[in-house]
This record gives sequence, C-alpha cells and structure tokens, in this order.
Amino acid sequence: MKEIYTFADLKSWRKSKPPIRLGVFGLPVAHSLSPQIQNAALKACKIDMQYARFEIGPNELRPALQFAIEHDFVGINLTLPHKVSALALMDDVDPNAKPVGAVNTIKIDNGKLRGFNTDGKGFARAIREDFAVDLRDMRVLVLGAGGAARAIALQSAKEHCERLVIANRTYEKAKSLADELREFFVGPKVLGPVPRLHAIPWEESALRFQMSHVDLVVNATPIGLSAGDASPIPARLLEPHLMIYDTVYAQDRQTPLVKAAHEAGARAANGLTMLLHQGALAFETWFGREAPIDAMRAAIR
Ligand code: NDP
Repeated sequence: MKEIYTFADLKSWRKSKPPIRLGVFGLPVAHSLSPQIQNAALKACKIDMQYARFEIGPNELRPALQFAIEHDFVGINLTLPHKVSALALMDDVDPNAKPVGAVNTIKIDNGKLRGFNTDGKGFARAIREDFAVDLRDMRVLVLGAGGAARAIALQSAKEHCERLVIANRTYEKAKSLADELREFFVGPKVLGPVPRLHAIPWEESALRFQMSHVDLVVNATPIGLSAGDASPIPARLLEPHLMIYDTVYAQDRQTPLVKAAHEAGARAANGLTMLLHQGALAFETWFGREAPIDAMRAAIR
C-alpha cells in the first residue's frame, strides 16, 4: 500500500492485499491520522481490508466516489475541501448531517452513497472523556462558525447545554448559526443576566466579558494548525475555572490554545480525542458493530 494515492493512481489501480476498501479523500491529506486509527481497528477486529489516504482535488471528488463504488469500497471519510460539496453528491443524507450542512463519513450501500457527519457526536464523547462532563447544562463558547463549529454548536444545543455563545471572525456567520439554533433555546428555563444563545463579534472586550459566564471554550477554527500560530484566545483572557477544548490537534507539541490554557491554570485538551471518537463512530457506521476503541486510541499514541 502506498502512503498516498493520487487521482491518477485510480486510473491504473493495482489491487493490494488485504484489499483497500476504505479511505480518506482530501487535499491536503498527508497529515491525516485516520489511516493509523482505522487500520488498527480493522486489525483488532480481524477484518481483512485496508484503509488508505487519497489526495483528491475538488474537481476529482465525483469520479473518485464513482471509483469507490465500482471497487466495492465499504466507506470513505472526507476532509477539507470536500465536506460541504459532497452533500450534493449523496444518494441520501443522515438527518444528523443535514443541519450541519457537511458530510465527513460516507457508507457505500448497494452502490448508493449515504452521507453522515460524526463530528458532533465525536465531540460530545471527547468532552466526556477529557473532562468527565456531559454537554447538558454546560455553558459553551464556540470559536468559529464553519463546518466543525456548526457540528459542535448543534450537538451542544441538542444535548441541552445551558448557554451557547458563538464567536466568529465573520460576525454575520455566527449570527446566522445562532438564528438557526434558536428553536433549542426557547422554553421555560429562567433567564439569567446573560442571554442563553448569543452571537458575539471576535473582539477582546466581548470575549473577556463572556469568560466568567461560560464553562467550556472550544476552538473550532484552524488557528494553531501551523506551528507559528498564536493562541486564538490569549492566556490573559482565560480563567482557571474553564475547560478548554482545542479541535486542532498535534501529536508532538502542545497547541497554542492548550498552552495558553495551562498558563491560565485551566484544564485543557486537544482534538485528538475528537478525532478518535469521530473515527470510532465512522467505523460503527460502516460495520454496524462497536469500534475497538482501545486499539484505536493506542494507534494515535
Ligand atoms: P471551515 O473552513 O469550515 O471553517 C473555518 C472557521 O475558522 C471559520 O469560522 C473561519 O472564520 C474561521 N477561521 C479561519 N481562519 C481564521 C483566522 N485566521 N482567524 C479567525 N478565524 C478563522 O473549517 P472546519 O470547520 O471544517 O475546520 C476547522 C478546524 O477544526 C480544522 O482546521 C481542524 O483543525 C478542526 N477539526 C478537528 C476535528 C477533529 O476531529 N479534531 C474534526 C473537524 C475539524 P470565517 O467564517 O470568518 O472565515
């Protein structure tokens, strides 16, 4: 098996042993840890197939999915830049993925493409693992309003979080996401001094005010992916009572937000647990059986 297959490789496909029946499509895709995690799961479950990386550009997605159908693939994971555009290519879309507006897992079922999104549930499981809390009754601040942020905000709302604050560089996107989620925040709860659902501009004073009114801060932007990035929120704004979750992950270094959180005396975790759990949920979607989570966790470490 090659480290990375390109679209050109699909045209002169050589069968491998065990056969490749799963993979991740993305551009770039070299950084993806999914093969590591999923191949460990396949091995642990004695399933005789492999999971590979495919470097697939935006114009190549449709024929690459057709290739997967024709070669009896079980499923595909999608990463940047395909998660949103894939939605239109699905034969049907899981009700959990539709409101997120993005697909990260495809199950190929009798030649049909079925789209799922495991980010929201993967996030909820990650929060439970890292902080031993449920989203229910939590006050959550999400940074970002893209695909990951939408999945996280929707999951928090569905699990009846106490408050949800969305901050985004482009304020209008935060506002429109909050508007979409309004139905989850109507009802008999007593309103405190701050609104339960709030879109705020990404500005220091607005963020500073929110810090004493939330429990969990989540970075759902790519800030921190590049080694030279500063923390999306400076340590001086963070408070020791906070739980801080960075969806950005790195195996060999602390992300800037996790570092800032520790400086402020707060608990923090990076996105490896979300990656693990969204991968486990994808495995469960493909094979209809519980994922071997310990083998998958060991593969990341
Ligand atoms: P999108 O492109 O859909 O959204 C990116 C978001 O980040 C937008 O809200 C954008 O704001 C904001 N943003 C981008 N650059 C900056 C910047 N320089 N300053 C401030 N805001 C910025 O990406 P996704 O939502 O799909 O992914 C975001 C990140 O989430 C990924 O980079 C990845 O690290 C992480 N992720 C982790 C997963 C895991 O399993 N751990 C799973 C999925 C994602 P604007 O609207 O203004 O453009």
